[in-house]
Amino acid sequence: MLLLPNCKQTHKLVSEGLDRHLTLAERTKMKLHMSICDSCTNFNGQMQLLRKAMHDYPAAKINSDDETSQ
Ligand SMILES: [Zn+2]
Repeated sequence: MLLLPNCKQTHKLVSEGLDRHLTLAERTKMKLHMSICDSCTNFNGQMQLLRKAMHDYPAAKINSDDETSQ
């Protein structure tokens, strides 16, 4: 039987998952914990969004030409 990780361990797994490929056991623990924890589900969602945003919009591509001159 799998032991559920606590929130701290789950946050660590979510963070590490951005940098490396998690093992099946790690991913399973993470998902099991998130199935009972809204806080970690939200944290994971934000981290995935952040990673996607960083991937889709490299820092150099920021466009600040919104201001219209008269
Ligand atoms: Zn949690």
